Amino acid sequence: MYWESPYLEEGVWLRGNLHTHTTVSDGHQTPKEAVYHYAQIAKTKRSPWMDYRFLALTDHIEDTNPDQHEVPRAENFVVMDGREYSRGKHIVAIDCPMIFDVDILGKPRAECLEDYQKIINHINGDGGLAILPHPHWASFDHWTAQEAIDLKGYTAIEIINGDRFNGPANLATDVWDAALTAGQRVWGIGSDDFHSARDFCNAWTFVYARECTKEAILEAFRQGSCYASNGAGFSKLYADGEWIVAECADASFYANCEKTFRFISEGGVLRQHQIGMNHAAAYKAQGDEKYIRVELTLNWGCSAFSQPFFRVQK
Ligand SMILES: [Zn+2]
Ligand SMILES: [Zn+2]
Repeated sequence: MYWESPYLEEGVWLRGNLHTHTTVSDGHQTPKEAVYHYAQIAKTKRSPWMDYRFLALTDHIEDTNPDQHEVPRAENFVVMDGREYSRGKHIVAIDCPMIFDVDILGKPRAECLEDYQKIINHINGDGGLAILPHPHWASFDHWTAQEAIDLKGYTAIEIINGDRFNGPANLATDVWDAALTAGQRVWGIGSDDFHSARDFCNAWTFVYARECTKEAILEAFRQGSCYASNGAGFSKLYADGEWIVAECADASFYANCEKTFRFISEGGVLRQHQIGMNHAAAYKAQGDEKYIRVELTLNWGCSAFSQPFFRVQK
């Protein structure tokens, strides 16, 4: 084996949003309304595979009233409980219903990297997954490249944040590549950071999971069998010998659309690109890469971002 692929060999693509605020904190919709929005309003007639299949409720901790907090159910749709730590820099916790309190830190808010490390450790200890959200926020950087390198044990970086208050320059692949280059094994995800309908469907994560259950989705997410998107999609991502292959989703619909595939290695270095109508692209190892990740951009500007394929260490 030359490349270590994070993707399952068999599964189903499931689209979801991992960052959602409701009236339990500063969102405009109740948890029930938010779930309805994603489970029902998002249904598309053209491409049923684009329907949302999971949602994580991640209200800010400081406003959360646990008595109001409910986790609604919907048919064929997975709802996960979570929180966004936001006393200081933010950390999104998935499948982690615990209410953070001062006991973790012994003080009311996190102030230094050690404090944030304690919160990540606490999320992991509770069986949850930690995400560093919006590294580049409109007003300041929540997470610098050095912090993404120094913190340990988090699962993903939110490389695309869809909150309308965030600027268009919120893409954080630079922070992600810095962390990957330093040896972190963390995944890039996209999410709406949903507060109201205007944030809806700006960015999302597709997981390639065994089935549509919470356990299978989290298992796929943990191992990186997923990709981030703000409009483009992959149908296949796999390694075959020295090759890495990526295919654009919905090939017939996008047949006449120009596609750019970029193969990127450590340091964010572009190793190869392909522009044209072809719906697939392949990259052959040059021999000195630590990892290769694939970006697919459609001609109107939206993209999809694969997870890294790591070079197998001999
Ligand atoms: Zn936040
Ligand atoms: Zn948020």
